[in-house]
Amino acid sequence: MRYSAFSLLRNTLSHHKNWPQLWGSPDPQPEYDVIIIGGGGHGLATAYYLASQHGINNVAVLEKAWIGGGNTGRNTTIVRSNYLWDESAKLYETALKLWENLSQELNYNVMFSQRGVMNLCHNVHDVRETKRRVNANRLNGIDSEFLDAQQVKEFCPAIDLRGGGRYPVMGASLQRRGGTARHDAVAWGYARGAAKRGVHIIQNCPVTGFDIEGGAIKGVQTAKGPIKAKRVGMVVAGHSSVLANMAGFKLPLHCRPLQALVSEPVKPAIDCVVMSNAVHAYISQSDKGELVIGAGTDAYCSYGQRGSMHNTEGTLAAICEMFPQFRRMKMLRAWGGIVDTCPDASPIIGKTPVEGLYINCGWGTGGFKATPGSGWVFADTIANERPHALAEPFALSRFSSGYLIGEHGAAGVAH
Ligand SMILES: Cc1cc2nc3c(=O)[nH]c(=O)nc-3n(C[C@H](O)[C@H](O)[C@H](O)COP(=O)(O)OP(=O)(O)OC[C@H]3O[C@@H](n4cnc5c(N)ncnc54)[C@H](O)[C@@H]3O)c2cc1C
Repeated sequence: MRYSAFSLLRNTLSHHKNWPQLWGSPDPQPEYDVIIIGGGGHGLATAYYLASQHGINNVAVLEKAWIGGGNTGRNTTIVRSNYLWDESAKLYETALKLWENLSQELNYNVMFSQRGVMNLCHNVHDVRETKRRVNANRLNGIDSEFLDAQQVKEFCPAIDLRGGGRYPVMGASLQRRGGTARHDAVAWGYARGAAKRGVHIIQNCPVTGFDIEGGAIKGVQTAKGPIKAKRVGMVVAGHSSVLANMAGFKLPLHCRPLQALVSEPVKPAIDCVVMSNAVHAYISQSDKGELVIGAGTDAYCSYGQRGSMHNTEGTLAAICEMFPQFRRMKMLRAWGGIVDTCPDASPIIGKTPVEGLYINCGWGTGGFKATPGSGWVFADTIANERPHALAEPFALSRFSSGYLIGEHGAAGVAH
C-alpha cells in the first residue's frame, strides 16, 4: 500500500478513524484446507508461507484472544543464531537470513536492528565453552567472534568490566548480525501478508477440542462452533500440553512463566545486546529509550502471565553489577509469558500421533528469533505432509529414540 505525504497527514489527524484495516474479522467457514491454531508469530508466519510459498490460501488462523498477545508480544526480541549443534545452527541461521529481508518481504517495517549480541564470559569455564561455541558457529558458516575483555569494553563502553567485583568480565562471544526486532510488528506484518493472500485470521476463537476419527484429524471444536480440516497445525507455545491432552497424547514439556521488565525511557545508553549466563541477566535498549531487561524462568510451573518481586530483584541486582550507572533508574513495568521448555531446550516440529495433526512447540525461552524460520519449515511440513529437512531432527520421536539436541548452553540465560 502506498501513501502520499498528504494521506499520511490526513491519517495522522483522523484519530485512527480512517485507518485501513490490515486484516479483516471474517466469520469462520465450515471447512478449510488447513487450520493453524495459535495466532502468535509462529502460527501467523506458517499461514503466510503456506499461502505465499505453497499456494495454499484456504487457511484459517484460530486465535484464542488477540494475535500476538501471547509470548510474541511479551518477549524481549533478541535475535541471533549462535546455537551449538549443527541441527539448531542451520535452523536458527535460516531464520536469521529470513529476518534480514523480512521488512522488504512483508512490505512492513519489523524494525530489525542488527546491533550485535554479546554473550559475556565471567570465568575460565565460560571462556572455554564460549570459544568452543564460536568455533562451532564458524564451522556452520555463522558469523561469530571471540572478544577479550578490552574488546568487550570497546564494543560496549557502558559495561563495567569489574562486574561488581563478583563476576569480572573475561571476554565474550559476539554475533554482529544478531540484534532485536519489533515484536508486535512481526505478528502484524505476517497477519497482513497472510490476510492479503486470502487467509482468515479469526480472533477470540479458542479451540476447545479436536474431532478425530480412526486416528486422523477431521476438524476442531471452537468457541465459534466446529470447523472441519484434514490438516491442522498446532502452534500454541505455553498451551501446547493442554491442547495435546485434548488430542489424546502427551508432550515432554514444562510450562513456566518467563518474566521481563522495562525501565523509564532515557537517552541512548547502550547500542547492543548484552547477555550474561553467569550473573543471569540480559539487557538492550528499545527505540523508545527503555532498557529492556530479562533473565531466567520461574522455578515452578504456572500459567500466570505476571512479573514478581523476587525475580525482578535478582535480575536487577545482576544488571547493576554489570552496569552500575543504571542503579538509579526507575522500572516502569514487569510482565510474564508462559514458555514451553523441552528437556533438551530444543523445539518440537513435525507430526503427532494423530494423522494430519502437526505440532510446532517447545521453543521455550528463545523462539522469537526463530519465528520466520519456524514458519517457513512448518508451512513446508504441512504442505507436503512430511517433515522439512531442517525440521526432521526436531521430531517428537527424538524423545523415544534418544537423539536429543541439547541446547541448554545456547538458551542459557532465557532469551
Ligand atoms: C518474557 C519473555 C522474553 C522472551 N525473550 C525472548 C527473546 O529475547 N528472544 C527470543 O528468541 N525469544 C524470547 N522469548 C520466547 C518467545 O517469546 C517465544 O518462544 C515465541 O514468541 C513463541 O511464539 P509462538 O508464536 O509459538 O507463541 P505465542 O506468541 O505465545 O502464540 C501462541 C498463541 O496461541 C494462542 N492459544 C493458546 N491456546 C489456544 C487455544 N486453545 N486456541 C486458540 N489459540 C490458542 C495464544 O493465545 C497465543 O496467542 C521470550 C519469552 C518471554 C515470555
